[in-house]
Amino acid sequence: MEAEIQPTEKQRRVTLAMNAVALTIAGSDPCGGAGLQADLKTFQQLGVYGMSVVTLITVQNTQAVRRVEVLSPELILEQLDAVLEDIEPRAIKIGALGNAEVVRAVGERLQKLACPIVVDPVMVSKHGHSLVADDVVDACKRFLLPHATLVTPNRFEAERLTGLTLDSPDQVAKAIYLISQTGVRHVLIKLGNVEGEMQHVINSEDGNRCVIVPSLEGKNTHGSGCVLAAAITASLALGEESILEAVEFGVQRAFEALQIDNELGGGIHPAEVRAMSRWPSA
Ligand code: PLP
Repeated sequence: MEAEIQPTEKQRRVTLAMNAVALTIAGSDPCGGAGLQADLKTFQQLGVYGMSVVTLITVQNTQAVRRVEVLSPELILEQLDAVLEDIEPRAIKIGALGNAEVVRAVGERLQKLACPIVVDPVMVSKHGHSLVADDVVDACKRFLLPHATLVTPNRFEAERLTGLTLDSPDQVAKAIYLISQTGVRHVLIKLGNVEGEMQHVINSEDGNRCVIVPSLEGKNTHGSGCVLAAAITASLALGEESILEAVEFGVQRAFEALQIDNELGGGIHPAEVRAMSRWPSA
């Protein structure tokens, strides 16, 4: 009689992850550090099958963004419908949408979906430069956030979404409350460097929690916000049910991506997704 061959632990975990599928709806960054390219690399590194709907094309490198062209809402929805009617994602990440019309169209299309939706509201760069007009901020609050599971604004985006100045823990708590009034279930504010620590504050069932990693001084942060939201989305696609656990996983993995400077390009070096511990690990 032939001996039964037992799958190894790794084979078993890979098989379990076959349905770990994530979709990003985001802009293209041709230098591969941010946008949908960063999202897909992060999904792949973490063992998640990645799909992408392109919303806008940027002409940029690590030094500057030279041009942005937003695709029509019809073309974006056609891509989205084609994917959704064929392959079901277990989690969706939303990045740059470009204009208010696109925000509304995508938000309305996503309202019927049951899977977790992570919104990285690409509105203000982490250096404080505005990336979108005011009507995009309003459309995001009205048409997108009510259908989202988690939104991940940086400090400046949280200020723009609320009109507050986040200069104290009380103001941060107030901003989380105000943003959650849009209907989004969880709000993760990336406060950036606070006294030598990278602080991320999220609301949970037990009140607000702060997820902290040491601050790094590197010049390799291009795409770091995309990579963080993509790693959280990957965790949800892998079956994590707790948003807090997914956020802790994402923050740790994004921190790993910032620990190695690949020294690519003459500007802000891309976050290095290959430095993230792979999944499955054994
Ligand atoms: N999406 C696209 C297409 C971008 O080009 C950028 C920045 O260049 C971002 C998102 C946001 O990048 P980051 O994660 O560095 O905030």
